Amino acid sequence: MPVNRAGLAKQFCLAALVVTLSILMAPSPARSYPREEAARFQRSIVDYRTRLNSRYPKVKRRKTKYIIVHTSELGRKATLRVVSRGKRFRSGRRTAGGHCHYVIARDGRTYRILDKQYVADHAGTSMWNGETDISKLSIGIEMVGYHYAPLSTAQYRSLGLLIDILQGVYNLDDRAVLTHSQVAYGYPNRWHRKNHRGRKRCAKNFERAKAGVGPTWPYDPDVRDGRLTADRQLAAVYYSPKAVVAAADEANVISKRNTAWVIAGEDFDSTATVYKFPDGRIFSGDQIAAKVGWDRLPAKTVVLLNQEASVEQLKDDGPVKTIADGVTAWSLAGRLYNRATTIYFLPSGRIKTGSVIDDWDDLPVRTRLIVGYKGPFELRKDQSAYRIAGKGYKAPETIYFLPDGQLVRGHRIKDFTQLKRGTLVFLPARQKGRG
Ligand SMILES: [Zn+2]
Repeated sequence: MPVNRAGLAKQFCLAALVVTLSILMAPSPARSYPREEAARFQRSIVDYRTRLNSRYPKVKRRKTKYIIVHTSELGRKATLRVVSRGKRFRSGRRTAGGHCHYVIARDGRTYRILDKQYVADHAGTSMWNGETDISKLSIGIEMVGYHYAPLSTAQYRSLGLLIDILQGVYNLDDRAVLTHSQVAYGYPNRWHRKNHRGRKRCAKNFERAKAGVGPTWPYDPDVRDGRLTADRQLAAVYYSPKAVVAAADEANVISKRNTAWVIAGEDFDSTATVYKFPDGRIFSGDQIAAKVGWDRLPAKTVVLLNQEASVEQLKDDGPVKTIADGVTAWSLAGRLYNRATTIYFLPSGRIKTGSVIDDWDDLPVRTRLIVGYKGPFELRKDQSAYRIAGKGYKAPETIYFLPDGQLVRGHRIKDFTQLKRGTLVFLPARQKGRG
C-alpha cells in the first residue's frame, strides 16, 4: 500500500514514540551516567581482594536479587581491615572476613573486597519478602561512616555509579536496593516477644535520592504478612509517608526516647558497643547490666558501635584526645569534628581547626584534638600566661602547646616562668580571655 510523505512521517513518529516509551518503562535503571564516567569509575576501583582472609570460604551465589547498603560505624582503615581480615572480639574469637563485596570511603574511593560472584557474609540473620539468609541472595556494599551521621556527596556519587553497574549486570530495579536495617531481624528478647525488625540500625541514614535511586518498597513485606513485628522507629524512617530524619547530633545520644535499643539495636549489650557517660566514665555494652543497670543509663550518654579493642583508647583523659587505629575524629568529637572550635594537632606539628578539615577519616593516627577551644594565644615577654588566661592560667582546662610538641594542661605545669617563648595557649571557647 502506497503511503504519502505525511503518513510515513506519522508512522516514523509512532515508532519513535514506542521506542521512547519502552525505554521509559524498562525496569532497569532510570538514571544513567555518562558512559565515560562509569568506565572511569570502574577503572578506579581499588582491588583489595588479595587482602581477603584466606580462611574465608568462597562459595558462588546462585541468585542475586538485592543490593544491600551498610554503614561500617568505623573509619576507613578499620573498615577495610574488618571486612577483609575479619572482626576481632575481645574473647579472642575472630571472624573469617569477607563481610562485603565493596567498601566506599568518604572521599568516594571504592574498594573491591570480594569478587561479586561469591557470597559475602554481610547480612547476618535476615529476611525479606519471606526469604531468609539474604547474604546468599545479595551484594553487600559497606559505606565508611555512621548510621547517625550524613554520608558524603562523593560517597553518594560512587554508590550511585556502583549500583547502576550492578543493576545492569543482575537486571535489578530500584526496589532491589535495600539497607541492612531493612532486612535484618532478631529473635525474641527483653524488648520483643516475637521475631522482629530492628536488630540493626545499619544505614538507616541512607538517602536513596542522593544516590539517584528511586523509592523503596511502600511497606515491609514480612511485617505485613505477619512473619515479623515492626520496629517503630525504622518503620517511620522507611515506610511512613512523611520523611523522618533523626537529628544528627542527638542520634547516638541517650535520651528518654533514644534508648540503647533505638541506637544500637541488638548490639546494645555487645562488648564492641561503648557507652561514654557524661561524667567521663566508659563502659562496654556487656558491662552495663552488672555495673550500671539498663534502666539507669544517664541521659546524654554517647553510644559508639563496633569499637573492637579500643575502649582503652577512648578512655577520657581530659580534654586532649588522641586519634588511634579504629578511632576517628567523629568518635571523639562527634558532630563537632569540623567546627572552628575543634583544634587538631597533627603529628607533623601543624595545627588545624576543624573548619578547614573536610573529613574525619583521613587524619593521621596520633593526631590529638581538643573540642570547644579558642586560640592559639602565644606566650611572649609582654604576654604572660596570666595575661592570656587570667585566673584560669593553671586550670586543668587550659591547654599549653609546648614548642617540643607536648600538650600540657594548666594544673600540670609546675613553674610558669620556665615556659619557653613560642608556647601556645588554648582556652575553653566559652571562657572569657584575652583576644
Ligand atoms: Zn550492616
